[in-house]
Amino acid sequence: MRQKQPWARCPVCGSAYDSSGINERCKQSFGGQRCPGSIKSELRPNTWSQCPECQASGANNGVACAPCKGSGWLFASTTTH
Ligand SMILES: [Zn+2]
Ligand SMILES: [Zn+2]
Repeated sequence: MRQKQPWARCPVCGSAYDSSGINERCKQSFGGQRCPGSIKSELRPNTWSQCPECQASGANNGVACAPCKGSGWLFASTTTH
């Protein structure tokens, strides 16, 4: 049940996407407003890590996991090591 590692994300809302959505408009919407971001590739190493809350499954007890927004992966915006 592990989610595949995302390879792209929206810089505006932080949603994770797979590589097929790169350069497309973000698909998230908030309160009826479509997110204005466009999906950027994020292929640098050590930027994605498996979500420890859901073991990268994206859900806990059938509910979308909050820390990773259901993607199963967490994004580290800065790599300091
Ligand atoms: Zn977005
Ligand atoms: Zn999670």
